Amino acid sequence: MKKVYCIGELLIDFVAENQGADLSKAKEFTKKAGGAPANVAAAIAKLKGKSEFVGCVGNDAFGDFLAETLQKNEVGIENLQRSDIFTTLAFVSIAANGERDFVFNRGADKKLNYTKKLATQFKNQIVHFGAATCFLGGSLEEAYTAYLIDAVKENAFISFDPNFRADLWKGRENEFIKKCIPFIEKADFAKFSEEEALLISGKETLLEASQIFHKHGIKLLTVTLGSKGTFLSMENKTIIIESTKVNPVDTTGAGDAFVGCFLYQLSLEENLETVLKDYNKIQKMIAISNKAGAITTTQFGAINALPTASQIGF
Ligand code: ATP
Repeated sequence: MKKVYCIGELLIDFVAENQGADLSKAKEFTKKAGGAPANVAAAIAKLKGKSEFVGCVGNDAFGDFLAETLQKNEVGIENLQRSDIFTTLAFVSIAANGERDFVFNRGADKKLNYTKKLATQFKNQIVHFGAATCFLGGSLEEAYTAYLIDAVKENAFISFDPNFRADLWKGRENEFIKKCIPFIEKADFAKFSEEEALLISGKETLLEASQIFHKHGIKLLTVTLGSKGTFLSMENKTIIIESTKVNPVDTTGAGDAFVGCFLYQLSLEENLETVLKDYNKIQKMIAISNKAGAITTTQFGAINALPTASQIGF
């Protein structure tokens, strides 16, 4: 079984209890572990795969809580760094108009330092680049780029999720797009939302967008469409794979569960180059990953809502 290295941020999400109001009206918050790459690592470990999180938290009580959460979920934390600045904090509420109200205090996640020793472990493994904060500067951004170069050199399978956050890039969307390009050029597999696929490609349809992405280098492209399923594009073929029908209560983390379940299935394969050419097999894997995403929506929260191997039917 291959190991999946998930690089990026791990942070505290303080989620407002009185949803339907903006943060100025919020009275109580629940502390939750957040960060897309950490969710992906947890999704893989919960399916009994091997995953490791690579990121940085503060040397404080919140950092301890996050390290314990990953450990409890059996995610490897040998490369979880600790910094003297505070753990990154996000305060989130869904306002009455359905928009996310968001205050972000960026701390230790930007302090991730590159280590050559880690890069040598990538040989023939899977490396997932899925940080929402990776292009926002700090040594994390430098490490992210250096690990991409190493992952290519070490013949690792490269997975990319741009995790675009409109609140963090308002008015600077072109800068974000530019920073995604080297990852798109090297990605064996990428997962976009519809908004991301159209924004980054500059096209109006997923078909046109997928042609651009394949031209740039992505071998296997997925665009997750919530309850409408997943758009898959590979080797000049496209299809929408239906979602699993559920009664959703909270869609947080569905995309990360999808990516985690897909990478877990790939981690069981000997020869990924052959799998990447097997359209029928990939379709089946995507249908199973859709199930992982759907199950995650049936409970509140992200990490705690991720499915187990028996829920998926492995
Ligand atoms: P997030 O950013 O919250 O992690 P996302 O936007 O990246 O989510 P989604 O498209 O919401 O990702 O969800 C990923 C996958 O999970 C979908 O492709 C689908 O298979 C499944 N899924 C999500 N929402 C639903 C739903 N309401 N019903 C059934 N399946 C769902």
